[in-house]
Amino acid sequence: MILPIRIYGDPILREKLPLVASHKEVLPVIQDMIETMYDDDGIGLSANQAGYHYRFFVIGENAFQDGRPDSVFINPELLEVSEDIWEYEEGCLSVPGIREKVYRPRTIRVRYTDVGGKEQEEEFSNLAGRVFQHELDHLNGIFFVDRISPIRRILNKKKLKALAEKHTK
Ligand code: ZN
Repeated sequence: MILPIRIYGDPILREKLPLVASHKEVLPVIQDMIETMYDDDGIGLSANQAGYHYRFFVIGENAFQDGRPDSVFINPELLEVSEDIWEYEEGCLSVPGIREKVYRPRTIRVRYTDVGGKEQEEEFSNLAGRVFQHELDHLNGIFFVDRISPIRRILNKKKLKALAEKHTK
């Protein structure tokens, strides 16, 4: 089932989402989350973007370079980040019509619970690391447009205001 995507201005996107007590809680919504992500041509989707108050996100297989399938990351944490920072143009299903360059660490070390309930520690680089950081931001109520330069933010102010006015409930 395709879920409606929450858009910039919706208060759920500014929430710091609570930890998931058991991976079993999120199992029923994973398939819908993945379908919704692909329906909108996304490469990642956080639970609050689909209206759920759960601390987890999904990342599509195209973000990974090692043949890994679509993956679920529950209660993700950032453990280490590289000094190597790179710039890349990001977009977001919840911020339609805006794409902006964002600086982020290239490589990250993370901890999370996988779809089987097992705790994992792993390193992600390049696109996978970037999508992971973008989605982790969502779980803390942060948008990529919060991380762009002040001047770029001013240039996008009208668009963001229009989105927010339309989607604040
Ligand atoms: Zn996003």
